[in-house]
Amino acid sequence: MNYDIHKIRSYFPILENKVYDKPFVYFDSGASAQKPVQVLEAEEELHNKYYGNIHRGAHFMADKATEQFENVRNKVKDLINAKNREEIIFTKGTTESINLVAFSFCEQFVKEGDEIIVSEMEHHANIVPWQLAAIRKKARIVKLPFSDKGEILLDKLPELINNKTKLIAIAHVSNVLGTINPISEITKIARQNNVVVLVDGAQAVQHLNVDVQETDVDFYTFSAHKMYGPNGVGVLYGKRKWLEQMPPYQGGGEMISEVSFEGTTFNEIPYKFEAGTPNITSVIAFGAAIDFLNKIGLPNIKEWENDLLHYATKKLKEIPGLKIYGESNSKSSVISFNIENVHAYDLGMLLDKMGIAVRTGHLCADTVMQHYNMQGCLRISFGAYNTKEEIDIFLKALKKVLLML
Ligand code: PMP
Repeated sequence: MNYDIHKIRSYFPILENKVYDKPFVYFDSGASAQKPVQVLEAEEELHNKYYGNIHRGAHFMADKATEQFENVRNKVKDLINAKNREEIIFTKGTTESINLVAFSFCEQFVKEGDEIIVSEMEHHANIVPWQLAAIRKKARIVKLPFSDKGEILLDKLPELINNKTKLIAIAHVSNVLGTINPISEITKIARQNNVVVLVDGAQAVQHLNVDVQETDVDFYTFSAHKMYGPNGVGVLYGKRKWLEQMPPYQGGGEMISEVSFEGTTFNEIPYKFEAGTPNITSVIAFGAAIDFLNKIGLPNIKEWENDLLHYATKKLKEIPGLKIYGESNSKSSVISFNIENVHAYDLGMLLDKMGIAVRTGHLCADTVMQHYNMQGCLRISFGAYNTKEEIDIFLKALKKVLLML
């Protein structure tokens, strides 16, 4: 594999920093990835050269910004192989994308007594919006469980589906277990039963080639900030047939066709779901993040990160009393673990003092914590810029911390 890690790292000025006088090791890309210069420069260029509010057609600057903004919609469409650019809606992030569907889809298609299947390994962002919708519509949430190995119990899925089931909500990749879920198999079962599938791709789209047509998902959601892009931007992909039938999520400018006190008509998709001035700067810089991913190549990133995953897993398993949560063979570059008689929070705090950024706590996934009967754990997650040398630094620090504790 032709993977020039030195060049890749050179795009990320933040990695040059020292933390508490130690080289900075960033193992928290699962929470948010660092941004390459290409993204930082895209933001600056917009403000220096062609900023204006979009879709107003008022002047040169507005037209230029609109063109750039809409061009990113095409890039997103290509990235996930959507059929139509109108199926790409810009949101604030995964959380807003899921809330949008949980509100609008359920408003139109879910009625009293209906059921929504939610997997047990979801981030809170893919549980709570469905619970709120269920309260509103007097519907019921049904749990799709996972095994101790961290794999969805796919055999259980047909048993959970009945004629009241409307939707299945599941992560493409679990943010705790790292499991890459069998999305195509899930949609196949869903199709046979006329059930809609929403996939939370927040932990997937920066690691894997996603193809929404091939996997036949109805909705797919993700956040730019986990893809080396800016904060405050995300995507909702939705099949045209659903988006056209769903009512707006928010009202305001842009999402209307005509407004009067007698009644208002709504704009076409995607604009029907993009009320108000969007995050123009971040959407345009998001385009630079997608270019960056394409330039390195997702298959290359996957191979590189896979290597890191296997290296770190093997080494961690040599530490006595260490338990890894999520041991699927189909796994992304996330490792969550605990060490007997050691509090994950103490570990994380001491690692931080050694310049190593990890994540500790419930990882916004209480149902996963409950599955393993734990309060929290420690997670390391890798990005395109991490190295085996960093893993060695981390392991050395971890062993030192364990001696201290
Ligand atoms: N789903 C998963 C699987 C995640 O990992 C995250 C972020 N931790 C989210 C949803 C929420 O993403 P955001 O905060 O960007 O909306």
